[in-house]
This record gives sequence, structure tokens and C-alpha cells, in this order.
Amino acid sequence: MLGFFRCVRSATRFSQVPRFPLITQRAFEKGTKISECGFHTTSPRAAIPPVVLIILRPALRVVAFFAGRNFRKWWRSLPKDKREHYWSRIKEKKWKILVGGAVTSAMAYWFYMSHLEVEPITGRERFSIVSTKQIQDLSQLEFQAICTEYASRIEPIKHPYYARMKRVADRLLHANKHLPQIYTKTWTITVLDDPRNMNAFVLPNGNIFVFTGMLDFCTTDDELGVVLGHEISHCLLGHAAENVSREHLLEAIKLVLIALAWAFLPSDILSLLGYGVGAGAVNATLRYPYSRNLENEADQVGIHLAAKACFDVRAALAFWDKMDIIHELDLLASQEWLSTHPSHKTRVAKIEEQLPDAISFRKYCKVRSILKDC
Ligand SMILES: [Zn+2]
Repeated sequence: MLGFFRCVRSATRFSQVPRFPLITQRAFEKGTKISECGFHTTSPRAAIPPVVLIILRPALRVVAFFAGRNFRKWWRSLPKDKREHYWSRIKEKKWKILVGGAVTSAMAYWFYMSHLEVEPITGRERFSIVSTKQIQDLSQLEFQAICTEYASRIEPIKHPYYARMKRVADRLLHANKHLPQIYTKTWTITVLDDPRNMNAFVLPNGNIFVFTGMLDFCTTDDELGVVLGHEISHCLLGHAAENVSREHLLEAIKLVLIALAWAFLPSDILSLLGYGVGAGAVNATLRYPYSRNLENEADQVGIHLAAKACFDVRAALAFWDKMDIIHELDLLASQEWLSTHPSHKTRVAKIEEQLPDAISFRKYCKVRSILKDC
């Protein structure tokens, strides 16, 4: 099988990292350039780049804190008759205040609805205020930051783990190369030396990172195939952009919580406690369930990517069973509602439901590939 990757340069700043240009086979066949495929078009969605918002976030929290606290101090410093005067003014203007609140809510709703888009692989509607270009820039920054942080732990290209990773990733990407989300990216592999870290991840630009602990833990290529299928799915489904957009919304809610807690609770300690409870409730009801849904979605799509590449998808069950056993004593991992990821038991149960379909799909793909070879 023709390799999906090809080495292009070896003497770069990150010389240990093999860099591969994308073999845009479909684009080549059609004689088109990548830029003509339409996937890279960007829309000026967010007025402020996400990286600026990330830097501004702590400053905005400080502003919300002082705004709330100063309001409380100012209100307490007022004489009783002044306070009553303000209360009566508020009562007089209550309709104007209510209309103002309704208009603001309608504008927020319109903003939310006008930034909904349909994810092309799953057909799911999602909120997005980040353009493709912005997420690519963020991904590039993150790639450089990770390479700098782990500079001394990046395994050399000749390490046998690269051959294994390339073999598995190549099989996955080649089998699913019809997806524009695959053939428009430049995929790279980086193996990081940390035998105790059983993790792998893929950045939005297609940079695959895997720790040696994960490669040791996956005893077969089938297990590695379903793990990599899951991580590549996050990338194909644009979960990073979705997470950034959602974090902006949650941050806006938290800024309001900070201002309200320090404005209306009687002391700094109670404000801190009140904010902690509010922020915890936001995480438990909005952030964590949403994140777990994205994980389940990546599991589902990842198994199909792996099935299309003819990996034995039953390996997903073996992998998560093993994970469940080694984390049996980890109390936090079993408390799903406190986690951004589903518990291992939930994952096993959901994968068991999806497995019959994935196995049939694998058989169908296998027969097709045999007929093609004939
Ligand atoms: Zn994941």
C-alpha cells in the first residue's frame, strides 16, 4: 500500500520530529490544488482572535471582581435614605429595565443562533465562533509549545516506535482518505519518551503526538488503531474549535458569576464560596457533560475509521477493559460527573452497543478491498 506519509525535511528547528507533506491523492487525481478544495476557506466569525481572548481572560476576571466588590462597597457607604431613593427609582423604571433585559437576551440568543453550524461528518449542529484560520494558528502555536516543552524527550526518527506509529496512522488515514478533513491536512508524528504516560493526542492541524507509555500499553496494532482512530476523530470533527467556542461562552457566564458574587454577598469569604459553588455547578452541568459527549462522539467516529482501515475493532473493548483495571483504585476516575471524560465502564458499555455495526462495516470494507485487489 502506498504510504500516506512522506518525509520532506530533516534539518529543522524540530529536527527530531518527522514532518510529512500531505499526499493529497484525491486532489492530485483531480488535478486541483488544495486551496481550490474549498475546505480552507475562512469566515471572519470572531472579531477578536481566540489567542487574544485567552490572554484577556485573567484580566477580565480581575475587572469583574473589582466591579462587583466596588459596587458592594459603594452601596454600603450610602446613607439609608439614599438607598431607598435608588430602590424607588428602580421600581419606577422596572418596565424599562425588563425591556432592556429582554432585548439583551434576544441579542444574545440571536448571536448564538447565528453562529450555529452543521458538522459535516456527524450532521450535528454546534456553536462556533472560531474560524479555520484562527484554529490553525492556535494549533501551530501549541505544536511549537509542546515541541519546546518536550524537546529533550522527543524520540529520534530511527526509533522503532516511529515505524509502528507510521504503519498504523498510515493505514487509518489511507483507508479514510476520501474525507476532506484528512486530505487537506499535513500530518506529522511525534513520539514522546515517557513510559508512565499512557496518552496520545492530535492537534487540529494534524500533528499526532503519542507517549511511549501508550505505545507500550497498546499490545497490538488493533488497539493502537482504535486509540489513534479516536484521537484523529477529535481532529476531523473540529472538537478543538468547538471547545474554544464553548469556553468563551462559559467564561462569559463565570464573569457574570464573579461580579454578582462580590456585589451581593456580604463578605469576601462568602463571595469566594458563592463563586466556587456557582463555578462548580457550571462545570458539572455544562462543561463536563458537553466534554463527555464529544468524547463519546470521537469514540463512535474513531471506531468507524478503524473499521474502514480493517482493524479488529473488538480491540476497543480490550483496551478500555485494561484501562478500567489499572484505574480501579482511582476514585476520581470513577466519578464521571466530575470528569471531562466518560468513565471507562461507560465507554465499554457504549462501545459494546456500537460494535455490531462497526464489525459489519469492517466486513463490508474488507470485502470491498479484496474485490478491488482482484
Ligand atoms: Zn478523547
